[in-house]
Amino acid sequence: MLDRRKALNTIAALGAGIALAHTGSARASSELMPRSGRRVVIAGGGWGGIAAARTLRQLAPDLEVVVLERNPVFFSCPMSNKWLVDVVGTDFLMHDQLAPAQRAGYRFVNAEITGIDREKKRVHVTDGFFGYDWLILAPGIHHAYEAWFGNDRAAINHTRTRFPSAYIPNAEHLSLKHKIQNFKGGDLVMTLPPPPHRCPPSPYERACLIAWHMKKNKIPGRITILDPKDGIRPIGGGFKRAFEELYKDQITYVPNARITEMDPFKQRVRTSAGEFKFDDAILMAPHQAGHLCRSAGLVKMTPEGKPVNGWADVDEVFLHARGDTSVFVIGDAVGPVSLLFGHYPKAGHVAIWHGRMAANHISALAKGRQMQAMLPDNLCFMLVNGDPLEAIMVDFKYRFVQDMIEQTQIDVNERNPELFVRDMNWARESYGKLFGT
Ligand SMILES: Cc1cc2nc3c(=O)[nH]c(=O)nc-3n(C[C@H](O)[C@H](O)[C@H](O)COP(=O)(O)OP(=O)(O)OC[C@H]3O[C@@H](n4cnc5c(N)ncnc54)[C@H](O)[C@@H]3O)c2cc1C
Repeated sequence: MLDRRKALNTIAALGAGIALAHTGSARASSELMPRSGRRVVIAGGGWGGIAAARTLRQLAPDLEVVVLERNPVFFSCPMSNKWLVDVVGTDFLMHDQLAPAQRAGYRFVNAEITGIDREKKRVHVTDGFFGYDWLILAPGIHHAYEAWFGNDRAAINHTRTRFPSAYIPNAEHLSLKHKIQNFKGGDLVMTLPPPPHRCPPSPYERACLIAWHMKKNKIPGRITILDPKDGIRPIGGGFKRAFEELYKDQITYVPNARITEMDPFKQRVRTSAGEFKFDDAILMAPHQAGHLCRSAGLVKMTPEGKPVNGWADVDEVFLHARGDTSVFVIGDAVGPVSLLFGHYPKAGHVAIWHGRMAANHISALAKGRQMQAMLPDNLCFMLVNGDPLEAIMVDFKYRFVQDMIEQTQIDVNERNPELFVRDMNWARESYGKLFGT
């Protein structure tokens, strides 16, 4: 059962961040915190932003570090699928931002960023601005509902509130959990965004865990996964086996289902693989870089004013804005980095690496040194069975091949309990890297 007190606290905490976002003020152009020395402003205190802040404090203690974040508390998207079906509790996912910031020596400011002025080197929030010497943009993603609805705000709001995807750290996670825990049966449609998108294997994990929940509680429901791709990727073999061996009665997987028309009011979606009606849904619109990247002029636009690919255009190796080493972009917002594989996987593990990379580069620049190339790795565990707890995994490595970044990928498709234990350890270690002493 959903722990009501914790759920309400979570909603209050996440909601508080959102409320703050709309409290405009007359002091719109004042400097909010005069600089004591050279300053790095980090826009977004999620996986990438906090990793960058902590690493900067270690490598360059002379630099002032300010993190600006709309949510007053940290809510982890990684492990949230397990939280939806009570495999882990709220305490596991939520972390205080203030005390770890004080311990590590950076400023955490709970504020909505409203714009970026690269010429004046200012980050604007609702009631003033923060000047910077270096800026790290770590805003994650936004849901590009416009791809489905254009400017139809009613359709966007209806979809966001009735069929939330819960792919961004905000109160949508609570709504989705409530929906799953109260689902009485019927057709539940889950649309997947076209690639690249945040955490590619996680929608399939979510389907497995909801299916497990239905099976365990004898809920007469069916999940239809509408995937625009021609097959499950990554760890396709492991998910396919889970769908067939564990959830034959609960999951229907439909490949090549590119969305051509979405009607959230009539609860109907048309795709290149046919039309589907639904009793309930988890509707994942296409993902693009967080809005701040566009505000900073880092998203390439067509002459008609539409984003070319929706992601931040940065130096592939050092992740700074092209021709501007005072601005870095990290985490999921980063655009393609290699002709060989395109985007880094949009994963918290990679975002932590990116945070460290940007901190290393800024620290070098601040000391008048050359930046040294660094590459991340990535590793991701996905829980496919709730009883017994069994996971599968995918492992990515990167290296330079003649100045180009090359990726190797190993899928571990055999589900096994040891991988779930490793997943829990990975999460604990990651939270420790971000908030530990
Ligand atoms: C269901 C699910 C499961 C996942 N599982 C895994 C996993 O097992 N392993 C893994 O490695 N990754 C996983 N991920 C992916 C992981 O969550 C992301 O890759 C990671 O969060 C990216 O880090 P980031 O710093 O780029 O973005 P985020 O962590 O989203 O941080 C961005 C921050 O910027 C803030 N922000 C944005 N705009 C503004 C603004 N205007 N003003 C103020 N603040 C702003 C946001 O509030 C947010 O806190 C999963 C994701 C989901 C949704």
